[in-house]
Amino acid sequence: MSARETSVAVIGGGLGGLAAACVVAARGHKVTLYDKNAWIGGKAAVLHEDGFRFDMGPTILTVPRVLERIFAEAGRNLSDYLDLVRLDPQWRCFFDDGTQIDLQENIAAMAEAMDRFAPGKNAGDGYKRFQEISAHLHDISNRFFFWKPVEDLFDTINIRANMNPATLRDVLSLRMGSSVAGTIRSKVKDERLAQMLDHFTQYVGSSPYGSPAVLCAIAHMQAADGVWYPMGGTRAVAEALAKLATELGATIRTDSDVASLRIVNGAVEGVVLASGETVAYDNVISNMDSIRTYRELVGGEVGEHYARKDFEPACSGVVLYLGLNKRYDHVLHHDFVFSRDPEEEFDFIYRRGEPAPDPTCYLAAPAATDPSVAPDGGEALYVLVHTPYLRPHHDWSQMFPAYRQVIIDKLKRTAGMDDIEERIVVERHLTPQDIHDRYKVLNGAIYGLASHGKFMGAFKPGNRSRQVRGLYLAGGAAHPGPGMPMVMMSGWIAADALDADCKVENLRNVS
Ligand SMILES: Cc1cc2nc3c(=O)[nH]c(=O)nc-3n(C[C@H](O)[C@H](O)[C@H](O)COP(=O)(O)OP(=O)(O)OC[C@H]3O[C@@H](n4cnc5c(N)ncnc54)[C@H](O)[C@@H]3O)c2cc1C
Repeated sequence: MSARETSVAVIGGGLGGLAAACVVAARGHKVTLYDKNAWIGGKAAVLHEDGFRFDMGPTILTVPRVLERIFAEAGRNLSDYLDLVRLDPQWRCFFDDGTQIDLQENIAAMAEAMDRFAPGKNAGDGYKRFQEISAHLHDISNRFFFWKPVEDLFDTINIRANMNPATLRDVLSLRMGSSVAGTIRSKVKDERLAQMLDHFTQYVGSSPYGSPAVLCAIAHMQAADGVWYPMGGTRAVAEALAKLATELGATIRTDSDVASLRIVNGAVEGVVLASGETVAYDNVISNMDSIRTYRELVGGEVGEHYARKDFEPACSGVVLYLGLNKRYDHVLHHDFVFSRDPEEEFDFIYRRGEPAPDPTCYLAAPAATDPSVAPDGGEALYVLVHTPYLRPHHDWSQMFPAYRQVIIDKLKRTAGMDDIEERIVVERHLTPQDIHDRYKVLNGAIYGLASHGKFMGAFKPGNRSRQVRGLYLAGGAAHPGPGMPMVMMSGWIAADALDADCKVENLRNVS
């Protein structure tokens, strides 16, 4: 039975907001989605320039099961909306010492490749044991953490009902107090291979040295569910969700900045747009950064409470969009060009708050998979380097030219792209300040809130507001965190919590 139809405003058309809009609309509610930008998809934006097409934000799609579940809510098949291509090998890795290895999906094949890459170090066995830990943490995450609204440990485990020996074993095996980097290095003794595995935490913009071991689960998610490319680019994911939301009756309003929430006696009653227009709603799902939602849209004591909380923005980044007149045959669709020293790199980005002098560059070179991204024989090369979140003294209009050169020099030195400057025919870029201004995030953060803290680092503001009735949160700065699959799951959770609350309200009204 569907709950009494209620009116719902979704603030923000990022992938989290779009997923939430689809699910609440599929459950029979009347939805209006607002985004301040002229496009839908938030960070999953697209850039068209002189025959080149670049995904501007996310490029690596994992765990497509989340998307399937959202489309299934409406009784639709994902494959009717998106053409997903599986990529294996998943990434090519270029190390500072000139060596290379490809990350393969199959764990046994990857272990053999590791033994060939680093003979005599038992690397393959170490990788298999690391993947076993990762699989176990993934299973625990599925049972306690995913697909439900969570704000802290007490939401994950109902201590009285569930605290039996099995649950206790699960809690202990969460390895609280251990970091991702420590867990990896306890199993994989080759520093280059450890550096490769560290980079799963870059999916959540956090240091592997400061993130809790439970994030090692990402390695198993990727091995089990694969890496996928949606034909047409990751932008196609946003377009597919927007199409579904519209088919389900949602209204999408672009160029519509929401300035505040109308809250009466602790309950949401509507939204106030920057234009001054006020619209009444029964419920609101905010896809705006969670801390900024509380600070700027809710305000008052609740806003101050969240401003005082110790949440740290995740990292930011610089992206170069390089239209090349020739492809590089030695790169794969996804590549990591690693820094000379991961400790130095992460220390700069996450502790000192300055760009790393020798950074890791992530490359997307999609032309071989999808020739429509560039004119014949060309490449739409995307280069992402993580940087610290914005500090008051960072002026990227001044810092960008020199840092661009650091990145180009790194590609020449470590990725065998000696002639890259001669191949560039189109060039655009995105800085932390651009990310901050375009997406209304916290200090230019790409991935919401950092997952730092070896005990509680994985917890984010929950999807059902504890302070404001009728307010729900979705997106990279809300539970379960950033990255395409997680923000879409967060949208599903926010919508499901809203729908469940409406059903309870319905029953109360009937009885
Ligand atoms: C350069 C880059 C590379 C990335 N690479 C990957 C990757 O390879 N794989 C991966 O999985 N993830 C990646 N990510 C992360 C991923 O893109 C994000 O986690 C995810 O897209 C964020 O979705 P979201 O739902 O939190 O919303 P966002 O994309 O942050 O969108 C929020 C939207 O809300 C709007 N908004 C905010 N406030 C208001 C308001 N008050 N009124 C109206 N509208 C408002 C904003 O305009 C924006 O459109 C990358 C991100 C970036 C920037």
